[in-house]
Amino acid sequence: MVAHSRPGYSQCKGTPQRETLRLERMMLPQVQTDQRRLDEYQSVVGERALEEIRSLAKPLKGKRVLHFNATPYGGGVAELLKTLVPLMSDVGIAAEWRVMSAGDELFSVTKQMHNSLQGEHIPWTKRMWDTWLSYNLTNALEMDNGYDIVVVHDPQPAAVLSFLRRRRPSTKGKWVWRCHIDLTDAQADVWEKLAPYVSIYDAAIFTLPQYVKSGFSGPEIFTFPPAIDPLSTKNRRLNGRSIQERLRGLGLDPSRPIIAQVSRHDPWKDPLGVIDVYRMLKPEVPDLQLVMLASMAADDPKGWEYYEKALRHAGEDEDVHFLTDRVGAGNDIPVNTIQTGANVILQKSIREGFGLTVSEALWKATPVVAGAVGGIPLQIVDGETGYLVRNNQECAERVLTLLRDPALAKRMGQAGRERVRERFLVTRYLKDYLVLFNHLLGMPGGSISSSTPMAVATLA
Ligand code: UDP
Repeated sequence: MVAHSRPGYSQCKGTPQRETLRLERMMLPQVQTDQRRLDEYQSVVGERALEEIRSLAKPLKGKRVLHFNATPYGGGVAELLKTLVPLMSDVGIAAEWRVMSAGDELFSVTKQMHNSLQGEHIPWTKRMWDTWLSYNLTNALEMDNGYDIVVVHDPQPAAVLSFLRRRRPSTKGKWVWRCHIDLTDAQADVWEKLAPYVSIYDAAIFTLPQYVKSGFSGPEIFTFPPAIDPLSTKNRRLNGRSIQERLRGLGLDPSRPIIAQVSRHDPWKDPLGVIDVYRMLKPEVPDLQLVMLASMAADDPKGWEYYEKALRHAGEDEDVHFLTDRVGAGNDIPVNTIQTGANVILQKSIREGFGLTVSEALWKATPVVAGAVGGIPLQIVDGETGYLVRNNQECAERVLTLLRDPALAKRMGQAGRERVRERFLVTRYLKDYLVLFNHLLGMPGGSISSSTPMAVATLA
């Protein structure tokens, strides 16, 4: 078991005055984040990159921006907002992060929505849609109308705008739908039902151009991938105890090879496939250890079920280590320890919007073997910064190659780190958002350029 700490998250903060208290109770829960200072990234990305960000941020000073999503911890979106929101504040934007007022009833429906949008066929009932709509309606009633820009993440809260517009036709601000999901094989009836709610947004952001459904019109479409924070506890070099000591603290033997997958227990991440790959490798590498590290996202009630399934699949094997937090809270240090200390990281996904865990491991110069799906091939140049695989056999072969050739593993890991430095750090992500905000608000810095590889690109 890993140590766990409470996430930096609070329900709305009350005040002693009655009037304010009543008002606050009506507001959506706000997530408190740690502070971030842009200056601190200078040693990682250089002064020029920071100058560019500062100048893009100038016209946006004081603008009220809301990021709105389903959950304050667990999964990639929360991970991104933890850094992006405080960095936006640091450059002068009045940025806030709020989450839906919701519970398991909504999350079991939105989990199914997520799965059907990723390509699983799920029979949808009227009741499921009613649950989604009624939570969106109550959240719309709690939403403040004073933002210059609202960025709504993923489908869970996507219908809020439609209810707000019905209630207040003069709803202020520009609305952006940030879709983190690969919609390529979305279940047709689910997408058809969702599309009218998201087509009324001013802009939509996707991770890759191919995720945009053909015929989707209304918002201005942008594509840019997410990124990781090199200075977060999860990603920065750990001080104090050595990695070996930390691995021992997690019950591992650092003198023996370790492979690991850091992912929610979810069939799309193929945890059972990871266990099968380990089994294929074990006769070749008898002292191999496997780590399955997973935190349970608040909006993923099925997580425990899949966790137990994976446990059963692994059976009695003292070299398979299931590490998890029990409460869904942060577990950044164990994640960092495993991503740094493993010989090879796996991300055997079958579908993956982006897969932050891939960049996280590469940033620690650990080689990654991962499914050739979704956003993963953006991060892994096959044979240069890791290996892309299509099945268990290929996966086992590639992992074995890396375990047997530490010099190759080191080269790939280092090449991966440089790729992440160029393309997948949060400073680039922040810049893309700033260009987009300038554009939406008609500011002079808002001309869309594709001069840098990851600059905001319109599809229109
Ligand atoms: N994560 C974590 N603890 C875990 C497993 C995952 O903190 O036990 C984090 C992981 O480090 C990454 C995020 O959750 O930052 C997962 O993002 P990703 O894009 O890989 O997948 P998602 O969960 O969003 O599908």
